[in-house]
Amino acid sequence: MGRDKAMLIHNARLVTWGEPNRLLEDHALMIEGGKIVELGPDSELLSRRTQADKLDARGQIVMPGNICAHTHFYSAFARGLAIPGRAPRDFPEILRKLWWPLDKSLTSEDVRVSAQVCLLDAIRHGTTTLIDHHASPNAIEGSLDAIAGAVDEAGLRAVLCYEVTDRDGEQKARAGIEENRRFIERCKNENVAEGRIAATFGLHASLTLSEETLDACRNAAAQDTGFHIHVAEHEADEEDSLAKSQMRVVERLHEHDILGKRTIAAHAIHVDPHEIELLAESGTWVTHQPRSNMNNGVGAADVEGLMRAGVRVGLGNDGFSNAMWEEWKTAYLLHKVWNRDPRRMPGDVLVEMAVRNNADLAGVFFTDAPIGQIVPGAHADLIFVDYHAITPLTAGNLPWHILFGFRDSMVTTTIVAGKILMKDRKLLTLDESVIAARARELAPGVWQRYRSYVPPD
Ligand SMILES: [Zn+2]
Repeated sequence: MGRDKAMLIHNARLVTWGEPNRLLEDHALMIEGGKIVELGPDSELLSRRTQADKLDARGQIVMPGNICAHTHFYSAFARGLAIPGRAPRDFPEILRKLWWPLDKSLTSEDVRVSAQVCLLDAIRHGTTTLIDHHASPNAIEGSLDAIAGAVDEAGLRAVLCYEVTDRDGEQKARAGIEENRRFIERCKNENVAEGRIAATFGLHASLTLSEETLDACRNAAAQDTGFHIHVAEHEADEEDSLAKSQMRVVERLHEHDILGKRTIAAHAIHVDPHEIELLAESGTWVTHQPRSNMNNGVGAADVEGLMRAGVRVGLGNDGFSNAMWEEWKTAYLLHKVWNRDPRRMPGDVLVEMAVRNNADLAGVFFTDAPIGQIVPGAHADLIFVDYHAITPLTAGNLPWHILFGFRDSMVTTTIVAGKILMKDRKLLTLDESVIAARARELAPGVWQRYRSYVPPD
């Protein structure tokens, strides 16, 4: 079914994720031109909207698709990869022994297929908008177009950027800047993927960016362009920044005019009170990736403290599975054990972060209609969840049903901009066996090149 045709989703239990959240039983939803045009009681819309194609939700929960605030489509080939020599002992070693040799190994075909693997996973598990941060130092030019092509084919919504870094020399830093500049321009001039793709300016992290390169990035980006950068993921980022500039990371980025309402600072784990003040004052977004933080052993950001200080925090997955309720559950548990306090990170704070803040962050890039909630006029990005509550389910206690009852595998149908991408667990835009087979074909080459780039112990 195309995006232009009117479609009536009926026999649904709607979760609106509005403010306040509403749970509407026996409801129907009218979609036209990729947007939600009307919602109302089932019987009423069925009797009035007789011309529309009908999609029976069979009593399932119909809710806005999940949003991922920070991910890496390029990371798929890391699955099952053996790191040669001794195991990395800290995050800087993980970068040097895993991620930097791995991203060097990617050709543009690897980039495309790696993205497809992640996009398929996202459709299957109900993630409809993803904010990606890309690196492929030996295939920079055109890499964002390769990813955009994969996103368009999948039918999802995404924000793309290329992470500029000095770690591979001046020429590649310049190529990264040019890739961002060019793709941002393309998104301004063209309606890429019918408006489902937006661009921002990517920066790797303060610790791999010189003063000159930061300035070059700022100068290459128009004033209204935001940036997407890793910030204080490990103490090493702060130590490096102090050595380079006598400033902490967020102060340094502020000095280079990188912060702002369109900028995303991923992680912000090791920031101090002054940096938090700067993030809040500038309206810079922070994203939290608990599974990645636990895996890398880098600590846990004081998410609730950041939010109380006025920083807007969203939830990302940093390349982990595109199943955002897994990220919810990890955040819910991590902050309790990290702080030895079971009151930390309650379900309503999670909703503020993963639902409302992620929706507002997506709205920074997709400005033509609301996203992440079911209201007339909003983008029709929806999922059906086959969940059978065994206790009373209300709009108020829904977060705890998600945390203790929902599984991402309960998503049966995924719709983006009014187009059905998966129906009753059958993928309609991508062929899983073909993509998996192609990935398995490419992986040995990626892994072989990877081993040649890993520095000796
Ligand atoms: Zn990341």
